[in-house]
Amino acid sequence: MFSYWEKKHFFHYDLIVVGSGFVGLSTAIHYKEKHPKARVLVLERGVFPTGASTKNAGFACFGSLTEILDDFWHMTQDEVVALVARRYRGLQSIRRQFGDKKLSYSHVNGYELLEESQLSALDELKGVNKLLHPVFKEDVFSIVKKPEKLGFSDQVKAVVKNKFEGELDPGMYMNSLWKLAQEKGIRILTGVSVCEVQKDAGIVLAEDKVGKVSLEFIATKVAICTNAFTKKLWPDSDIQPGRGLILLSKPVDFEIPWKGTFHMDKGYVYFRQVDGRLLLGGARNRDFEGEKSTDFEVNPKIKSHLEKLATGVIFPGKKIDWDVEWTGIMAFGKIKLPLIQQVGPKTVAAVRLGGMGVAIGWQVGEELSVLLSKM
Ligand SMILES: Cc1cc2nc3c(=O)[nH]c(=O)nc-3n(C[C@H](O)[C@H](O)[C@H](O)COP(=O)(O)OP(=O)(O)OC[C@H]3O[C@@H](n4cnc5c(N)ncnc54)[C@H](O)[C@@H]3O)c2cc1C
Repeated sequence: MFSYWEKKHFFHYDLIVVGSGFVGLSTAIHYKEKHPKARVLVLERGVFPTGASTKNAGFACFGSLTEILDDFWHMTQDEVVALVARRYRGLQSIRRQFGDKKLSYSHVNGYELLEESQLSALDELKGVNKLLHPVFKEDVFSIVKKPEKLGFSDQVKAVVKNKFEGELDPGMYMNSLWKLAQEKGIRILTGVSVCEVQKDAGIVLAEDKVGKVSLEFIATKVAICTNAFTKKLWPDSDIQPGRGLILLSKPVDFEIPWKGTFHMDKGYVYFRQVDGRLLLGGARNRDFEGEKSTDFEVNPKIKSHLEKLATGVIFPGKKIDWDVEWTGIMAFGKIKLPLIQQVGPKTVAAVRLGGMGVAIGWQVGEELSVLLSKM
């Protein structure tokens, strides 16, 4: 039961965005910039964004050497270069927009650990640098001269440096998006789970579990930004969820001999240090099928693999005490590009950000706002 005032003021909008991750908030902000008088509402089912944007590892990255080489099997050279360029420009644009301090961005460089079986990637290093030259104007990848100084186990045969990558704090990035959205007068309602979007009519049906009421919002335009959870609202979408696990240790009682964002196992495993702790995550490839899930559970097989890597490869012989663990859900498809498209006369979607939403989320939001403005 709603009051006359609630009915009059809370249910009608020019734009409703479903999902308040990086993409949803970026879409709302860019749209409001273009249309300052528009009434914009963002609906989020969780108290906080509950998908990937505040659950990720905070790598400001665009692809390791072996990941880029792997992409050549599925994409043309031009497509691979365009993908890398898009991610890199995305990172530059959030740094310009919010400033490094507000993102807690640190330009620590990216690194990739190679095992014996991956050493052939080094033969391609020069070629990849040449291919990426139009984007970066300099060599991106180089071989670390004395990798043994980094203290990894002797399973690591080579380390490749990427001088254009860094790290940020995803919570700070979200704080910056919230602040900007607030300054622009965007309304964000949390704890509202959208059950259905009537794509022709701009009707958004939702439920408030606390108030135990059904809600019917009406908008001139609707944007679906629900990434891995999109099938519920757009069943035909080509989206496969992919869960990611992150483990964070207690502060370690020894000096960490490296700094930077590190990848291994073709980018499936990643680690960095945060406040004197080891942040280690990924390894979805150890159980691809099990990780095609939207449940925020911890897969014991993957957890045990990561724990072994920590004391077997990253800090050999050292004792690590774990403190926090969490999972987040990514979205993948047949190709590595996000889906940005109109899905009905009054509805658009921008979803399927893969493992690169830190880099491209803001720009994807801008692209969606352009599409919305053309409708
Ligand atoms: C463990 C992990 C590590 C990662 N590491 C990195 C990294 O280091 N660097 C990087 O670039 N990327 C990383 N990513 C990927 C990145 O976090 C994502 O690509 C990005 O956050 C996607 O943003 P999004 O807004 O599209 O989706 P999300 O952040 O998932 O936002 C979607 C939102 O929609 C809401 N929602 C869903 N359904 C409904 C509904 N029916 N009603 C209302 N609200 C709904 C969800 O609660 C959620 O808040 C990582 C992801 C994970 C999981």
